Amino acid sequence: QSQEISQARIDYHVALQALQDHGTRMVCTGKMHTDRICRFDYLCYCSEAEEFVFFHSNSSVMLPNLGSRRFQPALLDLSSVEDHNTQYFNFLELPAAALKFMPKPVFVPDVTLILNRFNPDNLMHVFHDDLLPAFYTMKQYTDLDDEARLVFMEGWGEGPHFDLYRLLSTKQPLLKEQLRNFGKLMCFTKSYVGLSKMTTWYQYGFVQPQGPKANILVSGNEIRQFARALMEKMNITRVEEAERDGGSVVDEKQRDKKDEYIVVFSRSTTRLILNEAELIMALAQEFQMRVVTVSLEEQSFPSIVQVISGASMVVSMHGAQLITSLFLPRGAVVVELFPFAVNPEQYTPYKTLTSLPGMDLHYISWRNTKEENTITHPDRPWEQGGIAHLEKEEQQRILASKDVPRHLCCRNPEWLFRIYQDTLVDIPSFLEVLKEGMKTKPSLKKAKLPTTVHPGRVREPQCQTSVQTTNEAKLTVSWQIPWNLKYLKVREVKYEVWIQEQGENTYMPYILPQQNYTFSENIKPFTTYLVWVRCIFNKNLLGPFADVLMCRT
Ligand code: UDP
Repeated sequence: QSQEISQARIDYHVALQALQDHGTRMVCTGKMHTDRICRFDYLCYCSEAEEFVFFHSNSSVMLPNLGSRRFQPALLDLSSVEDHNTQYFNFLELPAAALKFMPKPVFVPDVTLILNRFNPDNLMHVFHDDLLPAFYTMKQYTDLDDEARLVFMEGWGEGPHFDLYRLLSTKQPLLKEQLRNFGKLMCFTKSYVGLSKMTTWYQYGFVQPQGPKANILVSGNEIRQFARALMEKMNITRVEEAERDGGSVVDEKQRDKKDEYIVVFSRSTTRLILNEAELIMALAQEFQMRVVTVSLEEQSFPSIVQVISGASMVVSMHGAQLITSLFLPRGAVVVELFPFAVNPEQYTPYKTLTSLPGMDLHYISWRNTKEENTITHPDRPWEQGGIAHLEKEEQQRILASKDVPRHLCCRNPEWLFRIYQDTLVDIPSFLEVLKEGMKTKPSLKKAKLPTTVHPGRVREPQCQTSVQTTNEAKLTVSWQIPWNLKYLKVREVKYEVWIQEQGENTYMPYILPQQNYTFSENIKPFTTYLVWVRCIFNKNLLGPFADVLMCRT
């Protein structure tokens, strides 16, 4: 991975002339700063001022042209966290003529993706806020390929997980602090600024208490495609896949059963499981499986992913390490442990991940309800949950509370105090919760079966009517199967018909197995009915309604 930016690949004078003549050109997607990604030709960065610069000339383009609304509050979010006021992007403007009086620009020939990492010290944030969004932003713009250059503008150092960011492209990512090495003025020949938020599933509680995002747009399929791509880059093959390629079908079943194992993901500095050995013994006995432990402090990340990718179950304290659940095979179980006074329902980044449609993971949470089994750390620094700095009264209140009340991110002392407790896991209650939770685990075969192909519209919908007597009438509705059905094997095909009397605001819904039906109940003569028909596969895959039929009896 080369750190230098080669000036040889571009003709310097041609580039400089182009910048002087054409200035900067920007075209963006998105109506709002929160859903915007911008593409630039010749976006420049002045390292002295620490500002991006847009050069105006006769042929520069700025779309959207927001005028001063560009500062209300910003052009776009530079990280994937929505509307965070420390993550805004904007640029300064200058006439291209000013270039004559400025330091000679250095041109970056690579197609560049410019973004902020949100919290590169925390593994969950690394995946959720940066890696997944960057991966799919790069899929969205095909010139952001393997050779794209990533530039991280949040201003942090590499951080402990920089190797993961390196997997996104073959070029070394650049940090903000390194940009000054390229001179006072650098210009990105082609760049994209901002990240897609399409893959994020969790909001951290800046404006309302943390929880799943309101409108989740990602499914297990996209998460798993990403996981597979990353594993390939780390040179990991799933144990199951390696065996399937090599072994015969017959031994595979026996070996599979015998080789199943449980992973206990341990933390070695904070939020400890105090009786890990006992927990491991209990798991091994209960499931008759091997139990292996991993920890971020003791193994390389790829070796952890290797282990996780073949596991039947992961057991771990709540914490960022649980993001590795996205490497679990389908059908695996995630067991998340919560310290005393922390409600599992209110801290659900991993529950939400495992429950994404098509993720096919089974989630179980356990919570320590025995105060005698918790070890608190009131004297630690505040960011590790210490409360010694608080008023005596407030300390007393926190110590007496048995449930952390709903709170906003990120410095709530009661929350930090409770989440950084160590826990002696009560084995009987743990096994009870586990056994109970396993009862609702769907079998993988069932989970895999449902097709995710939706029905098309029903075709040629028609209605025929007849009047029987002064107060009786019939309405016959018929239609043809959706066009895609003839290419599909679908377990159950049904049709839904809605009938609404014109002018009324309620309708009668019917579910039918056949392609025509004569309605006579509640059908009045000399009345106009609006009729909608759609197809449903396997009970819950809804197709679109066909154009509404107007049927006059
Ligand atoms: N971490 C770890 N072992 C520990 C404590 C933390 O590996 O004993 C890692 C953790 O996985 C995360 C980072 O250090 O990537 C920050 O941990 P913190 O407790 O601040 O965050 P949380 O795990 O609660 O998200």
